[in-house]
Amino acid sequence: MTSRIATDLTGKTALVTGAARGLGRCIALSLAAAGAKVACIDVNTDTLAETVGAIREAGGTAEPFACDVTQSERVNETVDAVVQLWGKLDILVNNAGITRDNVIVRMKDEQWDAVLNINLRGTFLFTRAAARPMMKARGGRIVNIASVSGLMGNPGQVNYSASKAGVIGLTRTIARELAGRNVRVNAVAPGFIATDMTAALGEDILQEVRKQIPLGRMGEPQDVADAVLFLASDAASFITGHVLTVDGGLTA
Ligand code: NAD
Repeated sequence: MTSRIATDLTGKTALVTGAARGLGRCIALSLAAAGAKVACIDVNTDTLAETVGAIREAGGTAEPFACDVTQSERVNETVDAVVQLWGKLDILVNNAGITRDNVIVRMKDEQWDAVLNINLRGTFLFTRAAARPMMKARGGRIVNIASVSGLMGNPGQVNYSASKAGVIGLTRTIARELAGRNVRVNAVAPGFIATDMTAALGEDILQEVRKQIPLGRMGEPQDVADAVLFLASDAASFITGHVLTVDGGLTA
């Protein structure tokens, strides 16, 4: 599916974390199709090369960067390298994320730490690194991928839910901190979207999930990418600190 949002991002530069597959891949392809140059970040370099190849094949501009979002120094180096390469950074999409589900009494320290580190610390590190060039340029757009699990409880996801609620809190505070420099910060909270992450749940659970969604279906990655494109575009120029649910009515 291609984007249904018509927006022109020609001349803009964007950075997408977790761009190797799933939502990040779709977001990177959509930003590039709208004309942005896209820095694609991931730890999975083989799959990342495929995303970059697909963007270039479609006539877009993209560059791969191997980077673990939890590594502070590497994150700073990566943002510096993007600014060095293209002169500025206009759009940051914090998308890299993982799940390590378990009920509270069985939740291991490592499961808690891994999810909080990648989902929340990673978002903090990239936001801090990107804030400087954006403030200097007196403009920027940051879109954080949260989750409906950050808005409502979801048994088995105490770590994930806490990390995504943290992302929402971070989004609202940074929106206030950076508004004076014309940097807008918003979040998208997807519900159940068909990616490898949700495929891991298995067909039985997914059938139950579909029954709970008022629109009666799982979302497609493009549903999330179009919401990101909107928030990154000038059409959203008076929107900051907002959490946009893309969930087929799950949290309605
Ligand atoms: P996915 O597992 O398909 O892709 C995640 C990507 O992040 C992978 O390419 C992975 O290599 C990368 N990544 C993982 N750890 C990393 C690290 N330390 N540094 C850099 N990259 C790393 O997941 P997805 O379904 O595409 O989810 C993307 C985002 O959307 C996540 O933040 C997830 O929590 C969120 N989300 C997904 C859904 C859904 O239904 N799929 C729902 C709500 C929120």
